Amino acid sequence: MKALVLNAYGGIEHLAVDDIPQPRLMEPDHVLLRMHRAALNHLDLWVLRGLPGVEHSFPHVMVGDGAGVVAEVGAAVDHLGVGDRVMINPGVSCYRCDMCRAGEHSLCVRYQLLGEHLSGTAAEFVVVPARNCAPVPEGMPWDQAAAFSLVTLTAWRLLTTRGRLGPGETILIWGIGGGVAQAALQIARLHGARTIITSSSDDKLARAAELGADHLLNHNDVDVVKEVRRLTGKRGVDLVLDSVGEATWERSLRCLAPRGRLVTCGGTTGSMVSTDVRRLFWFQYDIMGSTMGSNREYQEIVRLAAQGKLWPVVDRTFPLEEGARAFERLQAADHFGKVVIDISGAA
Ligand SMILES: [Zn+2]
Repeated sequence: MKALVLNAYGGIEHLAVDDIPQPRLMEPDHVLLRMHRAALNHLDLWVLRGLPGVEHSFPHVMVGDGAGVVAEVGAAVDHLGVGDRVMINPGVSCYRCDMCRAGEHSLCVRYQLLGEHLSGTAAEFVVVPARNCAPVPEGMPWDQAAAFSLVTLTAWRLLTTRGRLGPGETILIWGIGGGVAQAALQIARLHGARTIITSSSDDKLARAAELGADHLLNHNDVDVVKEVRRLTGKRGVDLVLDSVGEATWERSLRCLAPRGRLVTCGGTTGSMVSTDVRRLFWFQYDIMGSTMGSNREYQEIVRLAAQGKLWPVVDRTFPLEEGARAFERLQAADHFGKVVIDISGAA
């Protein structure tokens, strides 16, 4: 079968579309999927360079998100059948450790992500645990189905379970070009929160306005802290979503109202942030990390997607043969929304 694989660490130049053996269904609770789309996340760029503590065997099949059709089911699978259209939750848990038993699947001690620790989704066929598959909502195109899971699940847990965002509260979201930020904008609106959105691009801010953002700040042109103070009557925001890291962290904290919360799922500009501990204790801030989400949280977002809510924005779709171009598109950071790879025409 054809797959987009990484043959050595370094960068996009080590990506290739190769013929590799088709995976076989070995576990009774797994399914074999004929893939239609794979969707990229920022994490997939990290995989190109190699991740500390993760040893890949080459060729390594890339990409975490995806959607396809069930081609074969294991003997113990009863909720899926051949021909079902499914999207994949890329987080694979063990279901045996204390965290899994407590329902905290993204804190599983053996937590693994497709495309990162495990073989990815940019292939004609993929084998995954059946419990990682959810039905594609009625009417949702393949592109959006593939792009849905990782960013929506991540943003959902960030804003609801961790960030406790409530109606009437105000949230600041940095960098609206990415999928997590866009999912967060939709989730914030769903919860009746007021949104302040930043970007370095006026075009992206205009797109955010179309998605219903309340306030738009070009963080290259304006003093974000000052504008946030002005927009909130000097009070500050209740919640900040900052996955930018070093470049924005201190400003994020200065945007918070007393008892404000900051949530993060990464640091794209660098991970070593500095926090003024005096402000932290005096204003009684909460700083919270979050990654992916539990099965219960995944079921919640799938249910909302079935109601037509939280559908992701797709930037562009590339055929599998041009998979490396999809990575270039993501790396250039000009995209608005998800970058997708179409595998359906590969056979
Ligand atoms: Zn576990």
